[in-house]
Amino acid sequence: MSIALKNVAKTYPDGTKALQPTDLEFRAGEIVSLLGPSGCGKTTLLRLIAGLERPDAGSSIHFDTDDVTRLPVEHRRVGMVFQSYALFPNMSVLANISYGLKMQKLPAAEIRARADEVIKMCQLEPYANRSIDALSGGQRQRVALARAFAPRPRILLLDEPLSALDAALRDKLRDELAALLRRFKITAIFVTHDQDEALAIADRVAVMRNGRVMQIGTPEDLYHNP
Ligand code: ADP
Ligand code: ADP
Repeated sequence: MSIALKNVAKTYPDGTKALQPTDLEFRAGEIVSLLGPSGCGKTTLLRLIAGLERPDAGSSIHFDTDDVTRLPVEHRRVGMVFQSYALFPNMSVLANISYGLKMQKLPAAEIRARADEVIKMCQLEPYANRSIDALSGGQRQRVALARAFAPRPRILLLDEPLSALDAALRDKLRDELAALLRRFKITAIFVTHDQDEALAIADRVAVMRNGRVMQIGTPEDLYHNP
């Protein structure tokens, strides 16, 4: 599913202009990294696409041909993954993954089948019945990914999803994640402040500074025009 932002801006209630008016297109199935220093507006841009923040008047956001500008988060059907995992710590892996599917009121057999599928996909079979509390950081991040994949989103928004992990694990999970995104042709926006990570995972990289997209291009383009 493609995403088109037209004149999208965000001013927070305290007057902070977190995002200047921005035009941006994400093609169906492409992986785009948002790269930039802390405070440049990456998370704000992601939250606007997710429907977690309302953009300023005059903004418009389309998913394919649908205008979602005024659609709340529960109707946008985008998946999200955060650095902080945002899992239920006392619940099992299986229960965490099933939770969102239950909210969607899918039949129990379908929930079980999808949960088993993503558990396998993310190599979590040995941990399905363990509590989140008992897992390592890397395992928790796999659970967060599995949970995001379970509803079969066409769009996945990832906010520094690997930043809490050590370097070796980060590279491994990044490659596995990229393979899954490509296999299911998911349009993915991957926020990071790590240039190497942005270049390694993305089809295109958008470089942000002070609430603006300064530059957008393929890793090759950016390498030749830094
Ligand atoms: P990044 O993800 O690149 O670190 P953010 O989108 O989180 O940047 O923040 C962009 C700017 O907006 C920063 O100046 C930040 O302090 C400010 N900001 C973020 N959230 C809020 C909020 N809820 N209210 C006011 N200002 C905010
Ligand atoms: P089909 O159109 O035949 O379902 P897909 O390639 O879209 O073909 O999907 C093949 C299988 O992969 C699906 O049956 C489903 O089990 C799984 N799948 C598809 N999309 C996703 C997704 N976003 N996340 C997890 N699993 C998915």
